[in-house]
Amino acid sequence: MTSQRLQDFGTSIFAEMSSLAIEHGAINLSQGFPDFDGPPALIELALEAMNGGQNQYARSMGHPELVQALARQTREHHGLDYDPWSEIGVFCGATEAIAASLLGILDPGDEVVLIEPFYDSYPALVSLAGATARFVTLRFPDFALDVQALADCIGPRTRAIVLNTPHNPSGKVFDAQELEAIAGLCRRHDLIVIADEVYEHLCFGRARHRSIATLPGMRDRTLRISSFGKTFSMTGWKVGWAQGPAALIAAAQSAHQFLTFCAASPLQVAAARAIDRFGGDYLAQLQQDYDRRRSLLIEGLEAAGFGVAAPDGTYFVLAEFSALWEGDDRSFAEHLVREIGVAAIPPSSFYRAEPEEGRRLLRFAFCKRLETLEAALSRLARLPKRL
Ligand code: PMP
Ligand code: GLN
Repeated sequence: MTSQRLQDFGTSIFAEMSSLAIEHGAINLSQGFPDFDGPPALIELALEAMNGGQNQYARSMGHPELVQALARQTREHHGLDYDPWSEIGVFCGATEAIAASLLGILDPGDEVVLIEPFYDSYPALVSLAGATARFVTLRFPDFALDVQALADCIGPRTRAIVLNTPHNPSGKVFDAQELEAIAGLCRRHDLIVIADEVYEHLCFGRARHRSIATLPGMRDRTLRISSFGKTFSMTGWKVGWAQGPAALIAAAQSAHQFLTFCAASPLQVAAARAIDRFGGDYLAQLQQDYDRRRSLLIEGLEAAGFGVAAPDGTYFVLAEFSALWEGDDRSFAEHLVREIGVAAIPPSSFYRAEPEEGRRLLRFAFCKRLETLEAALSRLARLPKRL
């Protein structure tokens, strides 16, 4: 019954692994959601908004309080000015922002460049829009961008490139040279960038996130997408947004008005007040907490025999398992969830051009309490070494 446009995409690996984790009582390091809540004050803010009568449909492009808070926050963090009324749109999570952007911009026959491994909704939405995806592959362990390969993907029908940085699942943060190279190609070929920056506040060590929209000539061709869920550890609130020039926001809004019309009103109001209330100190603490979880997971995976590509950003780690398992990523993920009691994501489904690049890797999420990570690592430590 499923449409031809969606037939190839099956069930999202996130849903598949999380349900296997529940079925087998495994510790879930697969799907990227925290096993803790954001600050309790956020729940108070949501209750206040509900008790204060914010319970009907919101303005479709975003609640006035939220678009104004986002304009202030983006000015402060990125030095980027967006008009709250015409250059910001609010969506049901970044997922809908990405969907509405692609559906709103693309025509059948257009081409879009995706960087693999990718977040799984990108190719599905390109297909739903009737467009065609072209792929550039990043390779374990450094995931450096091959600029020539990217340039080779661009043709006369290319409309857009989706750029996710900090990058899920690799944890790569694109550096200044890579961003400049991408920006140069976009200016030369008149391309739009869908910049998925949902992990913008999760960078480690010396890595810094820079939005491609801040590069010369890029603000007016970039839709910068982010989400409340990641930064405030409330992924179930599903409040996301896009910021960009009015014409691109209007295109995404054309799709949004018919997809969901608006995101949940009280949660938009709570998000607005949280963004104003939780500033630099909160973000510094968030990064510090994630740094501890990151170090614990990296050390534990290495001790268990994995080869780890230490992430500069996000809350994911890709780990190579040749020393532990002969088969592919799917068979190892199934073995881990059934026999060892730990769920991880087999990432070959995040590749289309070169899925073999993901077949010796697993993705582990560290948006989990230290006790959860410790318990998972003590299970993984029992894996026999093959080599
Ligand atoms: N983009 C990336 C790269 C992600 O990892 C996620 C994950 N959850 C999303 C978008 C979706 O964000 P949201 O939950 O706000 O829809
Ligand atoms: N972004 C989350 C991850 O990468 C999953 C979101 C989802 O389940 N769609 O694990």
